Amino acid sequence: MNRARILPDSDLAESLASFAREIREFAEDKLLPHARRIDEEGGFRRECVDEFAQAGLLAGPIAKENGGAGWNSLQMAIAHEEIGAVCGNSRGFLAVHCGLVAMCLEAFASREQIDRVMPRLLSGENIGCFALTEEEAGSDVASLQCRADKDGDGYRLTGKKIWITNGGLADLAIVFATVDPSAGRKGITAFLLPTDREGLRRERMPGKELGHRGSDHAELIFDGMRAEADEVIGAAGEGFAIAMGGLQAGRISVAAGAVGIHRAALQLSTEFLEKREQFGKPLASFQMLQERLADMYVELLAARQLVHRCARRRDAGIETLSDLAAAKLYATEAAARAAEQAVMLHGSRGYSSAHPPERLLRDIFGLRIYEGTSMIQKLILARDLLG
Ligand SMILES: Cc1cc2nc3c(=O)[nH]c(=O)nc-3n(C[C@H](O)[C@H](O)[C@H](O)COP(=O)(O)OP(=O)(O)OC[C@H]3O[C@@H](n4cnc5c(N)ncnc54)[C@H](O)[C@@H]3O)c2cc1C
Repeated sequence: MNRARILPDSDLAESLASFAREIREFAEDKLLPHARRIDEEGGFRRECVDEFAQAGLLAGPIAKENGGAGWNSLQMAIAHEEIGAVCGNSRGFLAVHCGLVAMCLEAFASREQIDRVMPRLLSGENIGCFALTEEEAGSDVASLQCRADKDGDGYRLTGKKIWITNGGLADLAIVFATVDPSAGRKGITAFLLPTDREGLRRERMPGKELGHRGSDHAELIFDGMRAEADEVIGAAGEGFAIAMGGLQAGRISVAAGAVGIHRAALQLSTEFLEKREQFGKPLASFQMLQERLADMYVELLAARQLVHRCARRRDAGIETLSDLAAAKLYATEAAARAAEQAVMLHGSRGYSSAHPPERLLRDIFGLRIYEGTSMIQKLILARDLLG
């Protein structure tokens, strides 16, 4: 196969193409050997955090004045496509730790809070999680019920968060709770909290996940956990805007990760069709199957362009909510179509965990759901269009 055709390199300036190659080599060397095992055995591979730190992936998207490498959004998208093409679990960790936590803090936390936690997040000594979702508050974030009751100078948190990626392992959590349940989104407040404090219990999510089985998903149960006044991010009542801002940073990783899954599905399918013979010739010679590769290929190029367009607009300071919604919606849905085709094109092999396509298909479901489902992205787009 002509692999160069599906890589981003030829559309990038040489400095960015060589940046992509470096991350690709890292991903294929350090992450690929474990990708199938961690999916089959379940549970997060802690060593990958140190590997990410050493390779500069944790500090990458953080500004230099905050101890990071100062990547722009396009670099982050390129890096997360490369990681996503190899291991959805590792890319999911990065989206949360870097996007939802470190980048969210960078945008909204005080100087003192950033100085207190950023060095440990960027070195990988500490892991971060972002605790927003509740049983009754999924897409409808503003209806969250986790309470932060005033207690002297600080607060006491009561309630339960679910589906929190990195939640069982995290040392630090951004937690969203309401200081006034009757105030809707205006009561939501963001806290930066350690996870080893009395009053917090953590449990693995019940059941076996469809995808992202090598990730850590937990419930966080708050039972009067103390939060100090200087642990509020921004001011009381600003949490909804902080949650939305954090999700904006994470979604670019999700969209780019979907492009990675899409690319992997196309590469695996092309190589398989070239190698596998039926009816006396390679499957790749059948036009009905060639058409499927062509469709996957065009959708891959389109998805990547939407993601890069969004990253470039963010770097230029002109990004809108719709840019990201279009990129996440299209990239995740197109990758789902590609992963399904990959399973089908591999025949019985596509049906077994001994081959990667079924893992791609299971993982992509997660990307279509978290950080705003595909339907929610459509609502954002339609609202924008309708004014
Ligand atoms: C693998 C994984 C990792 C996650 N990690 C985190 C994390 O780290 N932190 C965190 O806080 N959360 C996390 N989540 C939770 C995730 O963000 C939510 O699952 C998601 O926002 C959807 O919420 P819900 O599951 O409650 O679905 P619901 O909101 O109940 O939606 C159910 C269905 O209804 C649709 N729907 C809802 N409202 C509308 C509407 N107005 N119009 C049309 N359709 C609608 C949805 O699209 C969906 O199809 C994770 C979830 C998964 C699966």
